[in-house]
Amino acid sequence: MEENCIFCKIIKGEIPSDKVYEDENILAFKDINPAAPIHVLVIPKKHVENILSIEDENMLKELYDGVKKVVQILNIKESGFRIITNCGKDAGQEVMHLHFHVLAGEKLGEKIK
Ligand code: 5GP
Ligand code: ZN
Repeated sequence: MEENCIFCKIIKGEIPSDKVYEDENILAFKDINPAAPIHVLVIPKKHVENILSIEDENMLKELYDGVKKVVQILNIKESGFRIITNCGKDAGQEVMHLHFHVLAGEKLGEKIK
């Protein structure tokens, strides 16, 4: 847990969130400022800054399993979805706690930037 991290506060319940799925390793919740009709963030409960900061290789599998749960719960397997993770300043990462954006619910733009 990181003192001033918004997502750590969400995990602890200090900041409310609209949860989609949770288990002992990951949390999936709706983005407060959705970029698509479905916009969910999948995060590890252990604070790591970004995709390059992962030390425990199980974490990637746990996030992957979390994404699959979200896809199942929100029924977006057939219609499709996009996963994005921003890493560092050129990508515009704002929250320094690793997160996968899951975007769906409409035909997404052709570009990813
Ligand atoms: P980044 O730009 O770091 O990849 O994405 C951070 C995301 O977190 C943004 O899409 C932003 O809307 C979302 N976000 C920031 N603060 C909160 C919050 O307090 N609650 C929720 N649910 N999402 C947040
Ligand atoms: Zn954190």
